[in-house]
Amino acid sequence: MSSNQPPPGAPSDAPEPASTIDALIAVARTLETDFPGPRSVIPSRHLAIVACMDSRLDLFRIFGLHAGDAHVIRNAGGIVTDDVLRSLVLSQRFMQTREIVLLHHTNCGLQQKTEDEFREYLLREVGQEPPYEFGAFTDPDDSVRRSIARIKDHPFLAHRTHVRGFVYNVETGTTKEVT
Ligand code: ZN
Repeated sequence: MSSNQPPPGAPSDAPEPASTIDALIAVARTLETDFPGPRSVIPSRHLAIVACMDSRLDLFRIFGLHAGDAHVIRNAGGIVTDDVLRSLVLSQRFMQTREIVLLHHTNCGLQQKTEDEFREYLLREVGQEPPYEFGAFTDPDDSVRRSIARIKDHPFLAHRTHVRGFVYNVETGTTKEVT
């Protein structure tokens, strides 16, 4: 939607939103009446998904999920960082999830540069390097395998049997399992 369109449901003579966030809030207000009702804090499919933040990955559409079905943990690349492990431990130990799906994808932002190029860019721009890794990769299948290995090696996770990783093709909308 272009920024000069009124949000759905707004009167046509409404003032133009000042920002995308204003437009979102206006939509949220109109959709509040469609609230389907409260759900359990326990995901009904007992599933956690770790996925890239990429805007083309509509996880609920790809997997046919609905609100209340699964935990969704997203970051750049969908890589399993310490903070993702923290979320998964909470998910399994306290929220009864038992299976994990990893979803990476083709044409990821983390494939555009090497780790060194990301760091050198920030060093030039900011004068210092960030204290974290970006997780740059060339092959999404390899990135999925590394993330699965981190999950399998994490003793705080209660359920490490049903962990499967996939790569979503952003050109075709198809999802392939990484074996
Ligand atoms: Zn990505």
